[in-house]
Amino acid sequence: MAASSLLRALTRRRGCATSGAFNHYQHHLSSPFSTTSAAAAAASAGARDEAGKGFPGLGPTTKGEKARVVVLGTGWAGARVMKDLDTDGYDVVCVSPRNHMVFTPLLASTCVGTLEFRSVAEPLARIQPAMSKSPGSHFLLARCTGVDPDAHTIDCETVTDGQKDALEPWKFKVAYDKLVFACGSEALTFGIRGVTEHAIFLREVHHAQEIRRRLLLNLMLSEVPGISEDEKRKLLHCVVVGGGPTGVEFSGELSDFIMRDVKQRYAHVKDYIHVTLIEANEILSSFDVRLRQYATNQLIKSGVRLVRGIVKDVQPNKLILDNGEEVPYGLLVWSTGVGASPFVKSLPFPKSPDGRIGVDEWLRVPSVRDVYAIGDCSGFLESTGKEVLPALAQVAERQGKYLAQQLNSFMKAGGGHANSEATVDVGPPFVYKHLGSMATVGRHKALVDLRQSKESKGISIAGFVSFIIWRSAYLTRVVSWRNRFYVAINWLTTLLFGRDISRI
Ligand SMILES: Cc1cc2nc3c(=O)[nH]c(=O)nc-3n(C[C@H](O)[C@H](O)[C@H](O)COP(=O)(O)OP(=O)(O)OC[C@H]3O[C@@H](n4cnc5c(N)ncnc54)[C@H](O)[C@@H]3O)c2cc1C
Repeated sequence: MAASSLLRALTRRRGCATSGAFNHYQHHLSSPFSTTSAAAAAASAGARDEAGKGFPGLGPTTKGEKARVVVLGTGWAGARVMKDLDTDGYDVVCVSPRNHMVFTPLLASTCVGTLEFRSVAEPLARIQPAMSKSPGSHFLLARCTGVDPDAHTIDCETVTDGQKDALEPWKFKVAYDKLVFACGSEALTFGIRGVTEHAIFLREVHHAQEIRRRLLLNLMLSEVPGISEDEKRKLLHCVVVGGGPTGVEFSGELSDFIMRDVKQRYAHVKDYIHVTLIEANEILSSFDVRLRQYATNQLIKSGVRLVRGIVKDVQPNKLILDNGEEVPYGLLVWSTGVGASPFVKSLPFPKSPDGRIGVDEWLRVPSVRDVYAIGDCSGFLESTGKEVLPALAQVAERQGKYLAQQLNSFMKAGGGHANSEATVDVGPPFVYKHLGSMATVGRHKALVDLRQSKESKGISIAGFVSFIIWRSAYLTRVVSWRNRFYVAINWLTTLLFGRDISRI
């Protein structure tokens, strides 16, 4: 389709979407509490449509313009590819429901106040300054809802977080020359009833904020006269489901918080607060037996109760295990691994064996042109003969780095625009080399396993030295100097003065 007719088609479709938004407004206006007039709503919807038409850079690019890379997501993979893209040759448009990258390995520390939330959130504009300066590069606070690979366009819907009095969400399209899926995964609940309603996941900064607020609320309520002994015990029972690195690190942070800060500042209730970690198999199954045993001993010494069991049902204040045991809780954190999101499942592409977007060795989605997938949302197709890589930041980041290099070299060889890549050499495939795993277990102790696999030779240690290695490694990995400084200062402040326990 010629560029001009495609642009006309896009504009027509955008008009339809806006009239849909207008219907939504009319529905909203019928509410007796609405203060907006119908005329004002129509004017606002019309103005938005006009603004949409005039927004530079959403339609297809021409050969004389910079080619456009559209990146979906601001996680480890998306942030890295955007950071390394050559913005002299490409315009970058990022579509994501959040405007920052989360430094996930340190997220558990923010739940109890060891670190502040801003220390682990890196604004995209700092990662790729062109996003806020270059006329053709934009960050769009929206979620991608579909893709038309033939037309080289994506469908998006704005994200307004369901805020009262915020604008109603609206739909729009973006044309791409290259499209990068970096939209991550979703927490697995295995269809267990009540998990989504009553448990808190630990994946985003707002989850950590919710955990911290709930923990401090429970601590404060447990001191108020009128609460029974049983209620106090239940309120201060923190249950973590899932014994992978995230569940173990969070349990370790919680027990540190209890041993140091709660015992000093909530002395009246110090004997009531407990942590239980529930895991169906072994904790930290990706580590070897020796390190697993060390972690188990450390957690037990810190007062964490380890329970082997499968959660069958989650109710508002208690969960039920497969053996019928009832576990009352005041705070429930769910961390049982990740899987493909409904959005990824809905995409019209072949999938990897575990349901992620299937890619070849060059991280391309081979059934269509100019589409790539990296990070947790992607996996090698069975036909490549390669194993699906683990859902890890180090995989996502290195895929982002590799893909940026690929796209930069395509652009330099004249293959930056849509449907022009076939003319350029695709270079070597992506190869992943595992650098090892680390996890903290509380009480200034950690596990460090720098072997490529459990069978290979190499460094595999546990204890205080590992904790120093863990901290140093992550401090150097924090993306900006600003956040590196925040993290270092937060650690020092916590060491000297204890954690911040104000409930803001
Ligand atoms: C608490 C925690 C601790 C961890 N610790 C470690 C660790 O120590 N070491 C390690 O290697 N790994 C760790 N991981 C795993 C690591 O964080 C993930 O593997 C990594 O974040 C994957 O990066 P990603 O870019 O693929 O996805 P994510 O980082 O999850 O980012 C996905 C992005 O896509 C956006 N998005 C979602 N849907 C859409 C849509 N429809 N349209 C547009 N955008 C969308 C999201 O908002 C987000 O910005 C940890 C994870 C967690 C949660």
